[in-house]
Amino acid sequence: MEQCRVCHWKGNAEKHEAREMMQGQGDSFTYFVCPHCNSLQIAEIPVELEKYYGKEYYSYSRPDCSVGIVQKQNSTRILDVGCGAGAFLCQMAKQGYTCVLDTAPSPRD
Ligand SMILES: [Zn+2]
Repeated sequence: MEQCRVCHWKGNAEKHEAREMMQGQGDSFTYFVCPHCNSLQIAEIPVELEKYYGKEYYSYSRPDCSVGIVQKQNSTRILDVGCGAGAFLCQMAKQGYTCVLDTAPSPRD
């Protein structure tokens, strides 16, 4: 049984297998799609996150806020799961959006 980390739904969800490709280790992970909010998330967060997010991982650098302009709609809030260095959210906040930061755990938390 899965529990959604976004909306807290609990139940049996559609699952998908994917291999880690960025570090080239090829480890396989199970992801599920929440049928309530349609978010895709990893079923179990690896215990050894530093294996996948080393000291040189790009999200530990200062964000570049030079992303292009998008059209704002009233009351739009943005959740960027896995936001890296936060460049996209930084730019959206400058344009007046209410941004919710990524809460994914990392070795630096
Ligand atoms: Zn959900």
